Amino acid sequence: MDDRLMEPSFKPEDSAMEQSLRPHTLREYVGQQPIKDSLSIYIQAALSRHDALDHMLLYGPPGLGKTTLACIVAAEMGQNVRITSGPAIERPGDLASILTNLNAGDILFIDEIHRLSRSVEEVLYPAMEDYAIDIMIGKGPTARSIRLDLPKFTLVGATTRAGQLSAPLRDRFGMLFRLEMYKPEELASIVSRSAGILGVKAEPEGILEIARRSRGTPRIANRMLKRVRDYAQVRAGGVITKDVAGEALTLLNVDELGLDQVDRNMLSCMMDKFGGGPVGLDTLAATTGEDAVTIEDVYEPYLMQLGYIMRTPRGRICTPAAWEHMKRTPPQAGNADQMKMEL
Ligand code: ADP
Repeated sequence: MDDRLMEPSFKPEDSAMEQSLRPHTLREYVGQQPIKDSLSIYIQAALSRHDALDHMLLYGPPGLGKTTLACIVAAEMGQNVRITSGPAIERPGDLASILTNLNAGDILFIDEIHRLSRSVEEVLYPAMEDYAIDIMIGKGPTARSIRLDLPKFTLVGATTRAGQLSAPLRDRFGMLFRLEMYKPEELASIVSRSAGILGVKAEPEGILEIARRSRGTPRIANRMLKRVRDYAQVRAGGVITKDVAGEALTLLNVDELGLDQVDRNMLSCMMDKFGGGPVGLDTLAATTGEDAVTIEDVYEPYLMQLGYIMRTPRGRICTPAAWEHMKRTPPQAGNADQMKMEL
């Protein structure tokens, strides 16, 4: 199984492709209509006041278009964007130097903002609120703090887990946008645009087949398009039809709903070992050998979106739809404990 195809996080090898396929305007940005509607109003208002936009927080699973949206906001505002990430800003001084190098109106994009350390976060508070930072000069009894003014900038923070953001940081964002997984038709329009840019010949049904299997995630859809293109080139005369897309993706172990080996493993583990649940996240991680954070950020959101898994206070449970998809029969009520004992 190709372990990277379905991984929605950014990989260095995506870099060249993402540059060429990234939309540059709100009009080209597919889906997320409520966010686009709000943004276009705020952008228009800020432009007519010659003012910077309010700080905004984008949250949702990886690969849904947060970085793309930040770049589009900068382009629509006619400003530059500076891209960095929580783990890359190790010390308060690193952030201070980024902030003091910004120009008025610049967009500062901080990916994985929930991973900023507390001391770095504290530099952000006055920067976001008063456009200023406090710097300590000297040491010991002669140390004093001076306040440096910053240009008026816009912070765009992105996170996969809004719940992990500290309340003081979250409260300083004027706008909070939650990105939703994309519908197959929206993904089809993304794949169709990408096929045009890459010069790939694809029939609408072939495009829809890729869209259906890409877990609601544009990054995965674009990556799949490249793999299916290669398959079509070698085995099928270069045209992506429905059958060619289906064959290529089945060969990559992706089923007709976009579930891969890891999803199926998780579901069968829950069914075979825990009678369909409830099972806790850590137990599930230990039994499947997957990382708990990856399960929560990457696998679960799509399985929940499909209605295959539900979270309950006692743990995760498989729904009847999941049993059906896995072609298994759920145990009769009361049998679950018996099954666990047998195993
Ligand atoms: P995130 O920052 O949420 O991980 P990105 O913004 O890097 O995701 O998006 C990954 C890729 O998916 C982009 O390079 C772009 O080609 C594509 N993409 C994401 N959202 C959209 C969209 N709404 N319309 C078209 N393409 C998109």
